[in-house]
Amino acid sequence: MEIVLLGSSGSIGSQTLDVARRHKILIKGLAVKSSVQTLELQAREFNPHCVCVYDENYYTDLKTRLADTKIEVLCGNEGMCKLAAMSCDMVVNAVVGMAGLEPTLAAIEAGNKIALANKETLAAGGELVMKCAKEKMLEIIPIDSEHSAIFQCLEGNNRKDAVKLILTASGGAFYGYSKERLRTVTKQEALHNPNWSMGAKVTVDSATLMNKGLEFIEAVRLFGMKPEQIEVVVHRQSIIHSAVEFADGSVIAQLGVPDMHVPIQYALLHPARPESGVKRLSFTEMDTLTFEKPDEETFTCLPAAKKAVNMGNNACAVLNAANEAAVEAFLEDKIEFFMISELVNDALENVKSNRSVTLKTIFEDSNAAMEYVRSKL
Ligand code: MG
Repeated sequence: MEIVLLGSSGSIGSQTLDVARRHKILIKGLAVKSSVQTLELQAREFNPHCVCVYDENYYTDLKTRLADTKIEVLCGNEGMCKLAAMSCDMVVNAVVGMAGLEPTLAAIEAGNKIALANKETLAAGGELVMKCAKEKMLEIIPIDSEHSAIFQCLEGNNRKDAVKLILTASGGAFYGYSKERLRTVTKQEALHNPNWSMGAKVTVDSATLMNKGLEFIEAVRLFGMKPEQIEVVVHRQSIIHSAVEFADGSVIAQLGVPDMHVPIQYALLHPARPESGVKRLSFTEMDTLTFEKPDEETFTCLPAAKKAVNMGNNACAVLNAANEAAVEAFLEDKIEFFMISELVNDALENVKSNRSVTLKTIFEDSNAAMEYVRSKL
């Protein structure tokens, strides 16, 4: 098996390389945003045909680093799309943010199977991506743990018999906090997730519950469900990674110790389930499992996402882009934590999106939402 991996220096990217090492999966292409030092090390270990750095300012640096090899060096969005379209068994898209959208479409256009960890792709451009994938009769295989769980629960069943998806949420770093208490939390606290080890953007999204909001939209798009067929349940222990209820009343869930190596490996090797090296789940030693409704009064990004998906058109693109800009501002210490959800809700209210959903309008509306947020800083 030979894969192209976009976003190889991030959390999902490096764990994908762990899976590749364990199962002798060949790497045909690697791409990063700007971490050329990491990319050089990875390229020397996996010897891909081609590498790419998204940020063109690092192109010369990368080219110099790999001057003694035969590896082709590309850069920019064009380079990412070229990599995504290389002939291979699967493209793993682990890019963070909207930058992942065009490479996803390029991979589909080339007829490549995609394992998708880039949730912004489906949040912002889900309708377009799913339409293109359907035309090419390609399945998008989710890497996100919740969607992988749902994908696994659906396997071997008739999809039309699935009546409800139960999307579990860890509750994030500020579970149980009041609105008042949220006003004083720090960046360091926001960057701590109790169960999952992830990148900065998704950890902050997890603390605001926007992560679950984006995953809600992702589930609507990926599995063709109506928003009212998806229930978000806070499950602090992250043992049940999500579940599906079928028409006969059966609920099938996927369980395990939280470790992203499992959904990554499943995306790459399914239906095979070889040894993954992860910690085993012990039923007699695990904590009590708890389930609650999310606090949508305090964490308003989640209801905003539900609203966006019901608004249709490019409202989800506006929501996603406003969030990207707000989280970036928070990580740069420009705004307080509680401002993220306020800015996202304001943008959704005030940025009017285009009626048609095309790549052009998705970017137009995303840019308008980012501009709107930046004008409020
Ligand atoms: Mg997730």
